[in-house]
Amino acid sequence: MRLETLAVHAGSRIDPATGAVAMPIYLSTTFERAADGSYPRGYVYTREGNPNREALEAAVAALEGGAVAMAFASGSAAAFAVLQALAPGAHVLAPKDIYFGLARLFREIAAAWGISVSFVDMTDPAEVESAIRPETRLIWVETPSNPMLRITDIPQIAALAHRVGALCFCDNTLATPVLQRPLALGADGVVHSATKYLGGHSDAMGGVMVLKEADAFARRLREIQTAGGAILSPFESWLILRGLRTLPYRMRAHSENAMRVAAFLAQHPAVEAVHYPGLPDHPGHEVAARQMSMFGGLLSFQVRGGRETAFRVAERTQLFIRATSFGGAHSLIEHRASIEGPGTATPDNLLRLSIGLEHPDDLIEDLDQALRTTP
Ligand SMILES: *Cc1c(COP(=O)(O)O)cnc(C)c1O
Repeated sequence: MRLETLAVHAGSRIDPATGAVAMPIYLSTTFERAADGSYPRGYVYTREGNPNREALEAAVAALEGGAVAMAFASGSAAAFAVLQALAPGAHVLAPKDIYFGLARLFREIAAAWGISVSFVDMTDPAEVESAIRPETRLIWVETPSNPMLRITDIPQIAALAHRVGALCFCDNTLATPVLQRPLALGADGVVHSATKYLGGHSDAMGGVMVLKEADAFARRLREIQTAGGAILSPFESWLILRGLRTLPYRMRAHSENAMRVAAFLAQHPAVEAVHYPGLPDHPGHEVAARQMSMFGGLLSFQVRGGRETAFRVAERTQLFIRATSFGGAHSLIEHRASIEGPGTATPDNLLRLSIGLEHPDDLIEDLDQALRTTP
């Protein structure tokens, strides 16, 4: 089946009791046992398994081409479970510009458990190779990266990981399986913040992990998830599955709109630089064109001037909403350095745009008036 068809049908089933086409939300935390003590319908207690969560997991596994998926309470919880599944003494390689929320997790929390993390430029395979140690167990890739939109060559990094018996996990939040399928490119696992494009409407928080193989590591992750309780609720599972049904069409529109906006900003005299892998002069363009089908809906740009100018441009937009996060129908604008806080490497004159599903001409006109009227 093609991706659009999978997105509509994967994980879906007609409700046996009523014939409902849209799956009911199973809020029940507990399920009836048979007289002999068995569970003939397969459900025991919602932390262990819930029909809505299973439907979402089946759908994301199908879209990513993985053997098994697990839906967590957030993208951070999914990423954290990967660290929790490593043994003390393990060494991890992570990108220097990893999503800032995960940087804290990798830097501070993992260290206390005897897991050491080295941060490297993941776009430079030579630097990655020289940072690998005999005890390296995991290489974490995020491509495109947030908010600089740097591109990492997934097959190349996965091959480096496999040479020393390490796993390669890819944060596929920005691309989604519609634009990039890391498991087919050599990665062992994929992690999503489903809060972004998978849900797609800025109204549900969740995370999904997908594994290529249903092996011992997958079973350990499932144990960590269900015993530790880092599960997605039935309602969030239902909302995110509803979002998935339209994901291929949304990603196409987000990407087309972002390409138009990036091309507009690239020729604007008030703009110093545009970071979008779809632009031919982006340093990762060639790799992105190889491993992605389109370039996604997130981009960032640097205004001529400093932090104050960037704040004024964000203040003057009318359609773009000043807010963090991305992946919803509404376009968002954000001064990224100020949310990431002290010590961030994100430039002070950088604004990140989540390009939504409005008409691109309206978005371009809005940015144009904001840039032209900013002194
Ligand atoms: C938002 C985000 C996360 C964290 O996901 P939450 O759902 O907010 O916990 C991880 N990685 C990337 C790339 C993100 O954008």
